[in-house]
Formats: sequence, structure tokens, C-alpha cells
Amino acid sequence: MKISSFFRTIQVKLVIIYLLLILVAMQLIGVYFISTVKHSLITSFTSNLKEQADILSKFAAPSLSPNVEAEGDSAESTTEDLNLIVRNLFSISGTEVQVLDSNGKIVATSLQVHQSNIGKKNKSLAVSRALQNISDNEEEIIDEDNIRKKMIAQPVVHNDKVVGAVYVVASMTELYETVNRVNQIFISGTLIALGLTGVLGIVLSHTITSPIQGLTRQAEAVAEGRFDLQAPVLGDDEIGRLSMAFNEMTIRLKEALSVNEEENEKLFSILSNMSDGVLASDEHDNIIVWNRRALELLQIKKCEGINLWELLALTEENQTELMSGRRQTVIMRSSATGDAEDDKEDSLLRITFTPIHRRDAGIVGTIAVIQDVTEQEKLEQSRRQFVANVSHELRTPLTTIKSYAEALQDGALDERELSQRFVGVISNETERMIRLVTDLLHLSRLDSNTGPLRKQRINLHEMLDEVADRFSFQLRQKSIRAVVTVERGLKTAWMDRDQIDQVLDNLMSNAIKYTLDGGSIVMAAKRSANKSDLEISVKDTGIGIPHKDLNRIFERFYRVDKARSRNMGGTGLGLSIAREIVKAHGGSISLQSELNEGTTVTFTLPLVHEGGEQA
Ligand code: ADP
Repeated sequence: MKISSFFRTIQVKLVIIYLLLILVAMQLIGVYFISTVKHSLITSFTSNLKEQADILSKFAAPSLSPNVEAEGDSAESTTEDLNLIVRNLFSISGTEVQVLDSNGKIVATSLQVHQSNIGKKNKSLAVSRALQNISDNEEEIIDEDNIRKKMIAQPVVHNDKVVGAVYVVASMTELYETVNRVNQIFISGTLIALGLTGVLGIVLSHTITSPIQGLTRQAEAVAEGRFDLQAPVLGDDEIGRLSMAFNEMTIRLKEALSVNEEENEKLFSILSNMSDGVLASDEHDNIIVWNRRALELLQIKKCEGINLWELLALTEENQTELMSGRRQTVIMRSSATGDAEDDKEDSLLRITFTPIHRRDAGIVGTIAVIQDVTEQEKLEQSRRQFVANVSHELRTPLTTIKSYAEALQDGALDERELSQRFVGVISNETERMIRLVTDLLHLSRLDSNTGPLRKQRINLHEMLDEVADRFSFQLRQKSIRAVVTVERGLKTAWMDRDQIDQVLDNLMSNAIKYTLDGGSIVMAAKRSANKSDLEISVKDTGIGIPHKDLNRIFERFYRVDKARSRNMGGTGLGLSIAREIVKAHGGSISLQSELNEGTTVTFTLPLVHEGGEQA
């Protein structure tokens, strides 16, 4: 830990605060206490000196009085006595007591060494002030030996006259030594108090900082995603309550995160099992969420972080329309986006965009739902085509009927031959319309599965012979030879006779229609290669069908040569009806043809009946 960060810890701060508080308090107390002690010591020292000076002045007053000489004693013997008394009574070490006469001359001194000064004049200011009867003359001086001393001078009054003065100079060294000792005691007391406070501060602040450290560790663990640690609760104080609240918060957070994770998992499984593709982008339009289906539909391998609009190759104009809500969907081909190299068929995609709004931040992303509408579009297309075809097929005969009826109205009725021809045309067209509507109804029944199959066991030879018989007139007319062959051992099959008759009639009529005079038609029934199906084929030697038309030949209303087919009374629905019937039987139908050589239409029917009975 760096030193600077060490000093920033709460524990150190608390200890420093304690120490500073103690230091300031001790300093204040110390200053006040020591100054009081010093003051009282000096006061008592001074009053002591004054008392001494007072006693001495009272004692010395008669000796200094000028009347003494008159009373007969010599002045010299009196001052000698005074000097003796002063020397004996006031010879306190370090203190000099002088008795001065009214002229300021030293009469007596307590110091042996200063005996020679007797008779000399004391010129200090305090003495002259005392001789002028000014009391309270005191001074603190520092002598040449650097010793602090107290000096006082008291007037000696006798019979209300100043007859001299008492001068006292006492060393204050002892007093200041006492003050210094008190000072030292105080300093050492302060240091001991600081030391104890420091130790106590460390211990006490530790009790505050250790739960905070525990909490910090817990918070760091939570930040790293570990929710197993619990912050220690060491009491019911503020930090204890904070720790409890923090533990509670950790539990809640853990629960919330696991709920969130669960939701994410749910979302993930919903997304991956959706049949629609989903892409979600962030506020910068970069893709952040997607599902496998989206990659499949767009024929791409990855899309993470790619710009949504660039990926879908949408123009700026499209983008503004979609984001403003003026438009919600776009239809596009998957090849517009795909990076897949394989030649997969392009699919048609419908993409629905939903901007994600956040109340305070506006649009924060976009969700794009991708649906494959290829089949839907194909169905829609064929439905539109079918309606257009039906309308067209009906309109042609209706127009013919209308024009012939108008011609009759306009006078053709009067000409017998013409009117008979016109009525014949009207009747033909009407029949064609009836055929068309019948075929359409038949198809519609087959589409909606309304007419259930009435299967029965049918003799194949008999059935095919009957078909040939039904068409014998047309066959004879066109000198076409019809042959029926049935594989040996194949006698019967389960089928709806009426429906299969319809199939055979359609195929037979086509074969006759598109075979030139003198051709031949073979109707054959045999077992399929795997022996499980019955194969019935109608083979002609007719005009055939060009290769390019072969894969569309079973479509409704599809005709190779429209005019020719129409002239021959065809509706363009025969092969589609045949296919639907065969499909309803669980079989399949196919057509092989060579132009100008002939056509073979083959359909299969299962030989095993639903009940398990072999035909
Ligand atoms: P249509 O009523 O026109 O015969 P179909 O569905 O039966 O309608 O036949 C569709 C088209 O297929 C016909 O218009 C014709 O061009 C062609 N076609 C069907 N069968 C044959 C065939 N045996 N030989 C040549 N072309 C055929």
C-alpha cells in the first residue's frame, strides 16, 4: 500500500483526529494552568519579600532617625548594630537586603561580600522613588550573571518622615525552576496522554473500520459477480445495519440476476425455436441479437455487429420510412443479402420492422422479424392467375354468344340457313361453358376433399375395354387403332371407378385429339418396378409436346397451343383434374413426350388396399 493511500484510510484519519484533539486540549490546559501557577508563585514570592522589607523597615526606623544622636548613643554604634542584625537575620542565600539612610547611602547589607559597599550610595531608581515615599517599588531584573531577580524598595518612615529605605534583591531562580518542573511534568503528561490516545485510537477506530473493510470486500465480490460472500454484522449500530441492508441487497440482486438469466434463457429458446427469423440492433444499428432461422433465411453465416440496414441492403429512403413508422414491412429476395455460394433457390422474404422506443432516450434499437413468404406468394400468384384464367375462359364463349345473338337480332334470324348456323355456334359455346363450369366444380370438389372416394374392386381389363368402347366412334372417325393390354396375372385393383373413368376419359380424349388420323393408342396396365403399385398408361403416336412445356403441362389452364386446344373443345383442365384424382388415390401421374412422335401419360395407384387386402 502506498504511503499516501495509507494516510487516506479512515483508521489513520481517526487516530490523527484523536491525537490533535488531545494535543489541543492539553496545550490549552497547560498554558492556563502553568500561567496561573507561575502568577501565584510570583505573587507569594513578592509578598514574602515585602513582608520582610516591612519588618525590617519598622525595626530600622528608630536607628535611622536623626534624633538618635541627641539621645546620646553614637550614630556609628547604632548603624553597626543594624548591620549586625541585618547580616544575621536576612542572610538568606541569594538575597541581598540593604538598609539605606535618607541620602541613599548603604547603612547595612545582608551580604558579607558587599560589606565594603557600606557607606556607598545606592543609585537605583527604586531606591530614589522609595526615598520620595513612593511605596510599591518593585522590578524584575536580569543581572550580569543572567540571573532573574526580584527587586523591591520600601521607604522607612519614622514619625511620618522618610528616614531611609529598605532595599531587597532576591533571586527568582528557584521559582522559575519550580515553574519549569511543572512544565516538564505537563509535557511528559501530555506525551503519555498522546501515546495512550494513539493506542486507544487505533483500537477504537479498528472497531469502526473493520466492518467497513468487510463491507468493501463484499461489495468488490458482488461487483465481480460472486454473491456467496456475506458481510459480517458486528452489532446493531449504524454499520451493522448497513451490513444487514447490504447482505439483503446482495440476496435480492442475486435473485434478480437469476430471474434475468432465466428470462434470457427463455428468450433464447423461444428465438431458436421460432419459425421466423429475428434480428435486433442497438442504437447504432449494429446487430446484437439474432436467431439461427434469420441466418438461414438470409443465407448468411454470421451477422454479429453488422449494420442492420447494410445487411438487408435497404436504401436510406426505406430506412427513414421504416423508422418514422410510415411503413412497417418490406418484401425482398434473399439473394439481395446472401453471401452463400450454393445455388439455393431465392426465397421471398417479408421483413417487419419495429423500432424500440425508450421514454427518455428515443429510439434505442430496431427489431426485424423475417418471414419466408415464398409459398404464400406462390399460392397468391396462382390464385390470381386462376381467377384471371377462369374469367378469360368464360369471357371468350360469352363474347361469341353475345355477338351471334346480336347478329340474330339484327336480322340474321330471317335467313333460315344463317340463323341455324348461328344458333349452332351459340349452342356449342354454351356446351363449352357448361363443360368448363363442370370441370371447375369437379376441381373445386377435389381441392376441398368434399367427395369421399368410393373405392371398390375393379376388373382392369373390363374397365380399359369399356373406355375404348366409349371412344369407339371418335376412334373410327380418325381411323385410330386402340389396343388394351393388361399384364398377365393382374386382374383387379381397388379404386373409385367413376373417378378413374374420368381420368382415363381425359387421357383418352387428349390422345385422340392430338393424334393424327391413322395413328394408334395403347392403353396398358401393369405392375410397377417395385411391384407395389399398379401402372396404367395411355400411349399415343400423336403430335407430342415440346420439352419446354413438359414441366407446366399439369398446371390449370395450361395449354401448348391455346387456339388448337380451344377449337378441339378443350378446357385446359383435363390433366389437372386427372392429377388431383390420382393424388386422392395416393398415386402419382407423369407424362413423357417427344415432339411429332407421341405422348405417354402414366399414372400409378397403390395395389395394397387400406384394409391390407392385396388387389
Ligand atoms: P385440354 O382440355 O386443352 O386438352 P388438358 O389439361 O387435358 O387440357 O391438356 C393440356 C394441354 O396438354 C393440351 O392443351 C395439349 O396442348 C397438351 N396435351 C395433353 N395431352 C396431350 C397429348 N396426348 N398429346 C399432345 N399434347 C397433349
